[in-house]
Amino acid sequence: MNVQLRRIEADAVIAIGSNLGDRAATFSAALRALAEADGIEVTAISSPIETVAVRPDGEDPDAPAYLNAVVLVRTTLAPRALLSLLNDIEREHGRVRGERWGDRTLDLDIIDYAGLQSSSADLTLPHPRAHERTFVLRPWAEVAPEAVLPGHGRIADLLATLEGR
Ligand code: ATP
Ligand code: CA
Ligand code: CA
Ligand code: CA
Repeated sequence: MNVQLRRIEADAVIAIGSNLGDRAATFSAALRALAEADGIEVTAISSPIETVAVRPDGEDPDAPAYLNAVVLVRTTLAPRALLSLLNDIEREHGRVRGERWGDRTLDLDIIDYAGLQSSSADLTLPHPRAHERTFVLRPWAEVAPEAVLPGHGRIADLLATLEGR
């Protein structure tokens, strides 16, 4: 008998950021690694935008600027498995964890996973600061204009408020 278990696919939203090294090359390599990983299919990639670095005490125009983008995926990986894959890809691209919000070659965050709301020591969904970050919401809105951030409402509305429109 040929019994095949079909794993359930989930839609997830991943934010990608880089402010050190050849940012565009790192983006391409990270996107390739994501697409090639088992259990992930990349369905959309936003245009990259350049943004001012944010430090714990605010925006820092003297720090190297960020390249930010958002990637939509369909995945059979559970949230924690997805996070661990993202951490592996960060490490392959020279990510070193130092001070909070310090410069980095590559940062990959899970912004939303199938609309799930959950919190544990190593993973909070949706990403707890996504609702206040134009560098996440703007590229996300480009590829998913109707998207909703669980607990916060439509991202187009969040973005309009943040941008004072
Ligand atoms: P921020 O979380 O404000 O964007 P950051 O990306 O610089 O800051 P990191 O040092 O990359 O923070 O990650 C700190 C920890 O955040 C990670 O070890 C990870 O376990 C945890 N984390 C919690 N929720 C998420 C999430 N949704 N996506 C990615 N990491 C998360
Ligand atoms: Ca794949
Ligand atoms: Ca981040
Ligand atoms: Ca991160």
